[in-house]
Amino acid sequence: MKEKGRQSWREVMARSLSSPQELCRLFGLDLGSTAAAFQLFPALVNPYFLSLIGGPGDAMARQVLPDPRELQDKEGVPDPLAEEKMSPVPHLIHRYPDRVVLLASNRCAIHCRFCNRRRRVGRGHGSTIGPDLSLALEYVRSHQEVSDVLLSGGDPLLLEDEQLESILISLRKIPHVEIIRIGTRVCSALPERITPSVCRMLKKYHPIYMSLHFNHPMELTPQARRACSMLADSGIPLGSQTVLLKQVNDELEVMLELLRGLVAVGVKPYYLFQLDPVLGAAHFRTPVKRGLEIMDELTRRLSLEWVPQYALDLPGGGGKCVLAPKGMGCFPGTDLLY
Ligand SMILES: *Cc1c(COP(=O)(O)O)cnc(C)c1O
Repeated sequence: MKEKGRQSWREVMARSLSSPQELCRLFGLDLGSTAAAFQLFPALVNPYFLSLIGGPGDAMARQVLPDPRELQDKEGVPDPLAEEKMSPVPHLIHRYPDRVVLLASNRCAIHCRFCNRRRRVGRGHGSTIGPDLSLALEYVRSHQEVSDVLLSGGDPLLLEDEQLESILISLRKIPHVEIIRIGTRVCSALPERITPSVCRMLKKYHPIYMSLHFNHPMELTPQARRACSMLADSGIPLGSQTVLLKQVNDELEVMLELLRGLVAVGVKPYYLFQLDPVLGAAHFRTPVKRGLEIMDELTRRLSLEWVPQYALDLPGGGGKCVLAPKGMGCFPGTDLLY
């Protein structure tokens, strides 16, 4: 059965720009450095995200166009969170006792130039079938302490509905798996992917939570808002994940507009991530000091209910650590009796 919306997300992806020549012709980039950046991490810009780019150097362009500075990053490493070390079986990361990440797909709607999983994204399987998760699912089955499974990738929503559903069916057969979470960039980078049929399918496997990757208010287009509303209407609690990025969202007003926009479409701000030191992304780095300043101002400009957690992934796989500005949080002084 060909559903109109479903056909169209594949068509959008099929028309993606994915060669150095095409990108250089369109944006007047230097072919030598663009081709060299492709060696580090191939670029992928679908026509939807392309339509959001106003010109080279704007916040949308910076997120997806290769930059010669990627080649000068001397500090970054290929796997900053040591995920490979914490992967007992293929396509699964087990860092915290009660939850695991399943790497359900290697594909994404676009390639973010700051991607911390670029060592896998766009490599290996290039299909909508996805990798073989049998060992990963067996691992979850045999680890009773795992109650929360986070589907990530790549992007799980770059799988066909049937593929995603077969993973959900397998997980729902495991009694100790209580919560399923899906992390995705499609609402902001391929909203066509949120079809009535994928919503109907997801609804069958509640409780499903979703974390939506959004970095800039320009990403909150009418199409993106509609995609969020469709998911919210399907009873899926929506949270957001944002990466703090230099010259993309490291300004208070930009961050406020993004957070307010997310809240207005039913997405609860969840994480603001400090950039991971992945090789090739140093030019996106915003100092923690600046991040804390933004957080401090956010707490005064927004209801605390809408202020995300500012989190940093400790190097070497130490896990997430929440950063808070001085003076935030209350410590009742010793003179306070209660
Ligand atoms: C971020 C992450 C999780 C989920 O963390 P939450 O704080 O529960 O959202 C789980 N496993 C790994 C390896 C992670 O990096």
